[in-house]
Amino acid sequence: MAGIGTLRLVLGDQLTPSLASLRGLDRDCDVVLMAEVMQEAGYVPHHPKKIALLFSAMRHFAGELAGTGVHVDYVRLDADGNSGSLDGELRRAIDRHRPRRIELTFPGEWRVLEMMRAWQAELGLPVEIREDDRFFCTPARFRAHADGRRQLRLEFFYREMRRTHGVLLTPDGEPEGGQWNYDADNRKALPQGLSPPPRLRFLPDHITRDVLALVRRRFSHHFGDLEPFGFAVTAAQADAVFQHFLRHGLARFGDYQDAMAEGEETLFHAVISPYLNCGLLDAKAVVRAVEAEYRAGRAPLNAAEGFIRQILGWREYVRGIYWLKMPDYARSNHLDSHRPLPDFYWTGRSGMGCLDAVIGQTRREAYAHHIQRLMVTGNFALIYGADPAAVAHWYLAVYADAYEWVELPNVHGMVMHADGGLLGSKPYAASGKYIDRMSDHCRHCRFDVTRSTGDGACPFNFLYWDFIARNRGRLAGNPRMAMVYKTLERMDGEKLAAMRAEAARFFTAQAAGAEPVPPPSGPPQLSLGLEPPS
Ligand code: FAD
Ligand code: SF4
Repeated sequence: MAGIGTLRLVLGDQLTPSLASLRGLDRDCDVVLMAEVMQEAGYVPHHPKKIALLFSAMRHFAGELAGTGVHVDYVRLDADGNSGSLDGELRRAIDRHRPRRIELTFPGEWRVLEMMRAWQAELGLPVEIREDDRFFCTPARFRAHADGRRQLRLEFFYREMRRTHGVLLTPDGEPEGGQWNYDADNRKALPQGLSPPPRLRFLPDHITRDVLALVRRRFSHHFGDLEPFGFAVTAAQADAVFQHFLRHGLARFGDYQDAMAEGEETLFHAVISPYLNCGLLDAKAVVRAVEAEYRAGRAPLNAAEGFIRQILGWREYVRGIYWLKMPDYARSNHLDSHRPLPDFYWTGRSGMGCLDAVIGQTRREAYAHHIQRLMVTGNFALIYGADPAAVAHWYLAVYADAYEWVELPNVHGMVMHADGGLLGSKPYAASGKYIDRMSDHCRHCRFDVTRSTGDGACPFNFLYWDFIARNRGRLAGNPRMAMVYKTLERMDGEKLAAMRAEAARFFTAQAAGAEPVPPPSGPPQLSLGLEPPS
């Protein structure tokens, strides 16, 4: 019996009709393969909402493709004979269909690229890995950008991307408004009385309900609440989320980009990363639409530029770094940090108001906005000295938008400074003072953010100075840390010793599995003017 023409593999984060490996598809003789496999769903304990989002979005996407006459071979997780791995499912599909060739799209993870390369070497038929052109910048283009530079910096890469793609430029090719970056305008705390828009949620349809039952059966032991489930699972729903953001969030996105507030989970953020990263939303269309809002006078420049920088800048920059530096990047540990991640990252019971709020939200929603990930859970992991690999494992597991290409550089580069400053010029370490300035968490916390030692001292305070002191040899030479080290030099030796002793007690208590420090009692002891990050 003759086989088919081309077998085209579509992965769970490739749910885009114009995907490279679907181009040139012949409905008469090609087959699209999609598979739900345990290996991908379980190699880290992914949040149940993330697994449900992906399986439901995959099933919807397969249904839409099939509706246009495409032959889709879809293997469900519980299907008889499911081998549990992508490799196994591709080989089984080759046996079923006997294709003449295989088309793939470049994946989002080094591990999967290695697997694809092995297929090229082993399968005995042509296997093409096509560029994933849903991104603005290819890995090769990023390599060219990086070549010969002593330092990589987001700002230079971002300007290059703006110029190359003609985004937010005047007719003369200059940046709109005369500046490339309006970050300095984007650091306001949320004022009393300003209510962010409610999040757009969707009721599960019958496909999603089937998936929820499956995930409940197979993955309920993973960290995270499966229900209520309100994620978009189709391109149309994801677009509705984005339109909702354009109408109700974008204009204030810039101003409150760095704010945090108790009970406000999304503020003016778009909550589109899960959809961008699995292919339901197109990053290029999103950037164009935001620019159009600015040009139509519906969004101020600081908001439009700030938002575009996240996607055209940061999202592309971290991907470039990932493909430039893998596989060694995953092993980087410049600050030599080795403490196990505290258990409370999984239980949400640290006793610290800010951490418990963010971890609790993460458990419920599989979402936290950037500043929560960076300045609360990330900052704590950094100053505590957690092992970067353990931190990366946590972030990859708990967020609905987490894929290694984007998660790993954010953790190893932006948060843990494990790459020695390749991605960012200085660690984003901060004391409780920063969290107090940008949020209202401290008002609801049993710890006292003004205290650095003694009963009730905010752990972020003494851990921050312990971090600064113990990394003096590695960080003091960094010009962007000069102010902090000057403050350290001037600090009373006894104060520093007291904070370091507090930190040592904290480490011991954590190693013994205890809650951080006893509940506050007694009069305040030490109050230091601690430096927020600049
Ligand atoms: P918005 O604030 O509305 O921003 C719009 C978009 O910009 C996002 O959807 C996202 O696509 C992009 N973006 C913003 N910041 C970044 C960034 N630093 N890197 C890459 N893209 C960015 N983002 C992920 O998509 N997946 C991850 O696994 C992930 N892990 C992270 C881990 C850490 C430790 C940190 C500090 C950040 C991480 N981020 C990750 C980046 C960022 O936190 C999320 O993209 C953002 O919170 C998603 O929410 P949003 O769609 O509401 O974003
Ligand atoms: Fe977090 Fe410290 Fe503020 Fe409590 S006092 S919320 S631990 S920064």
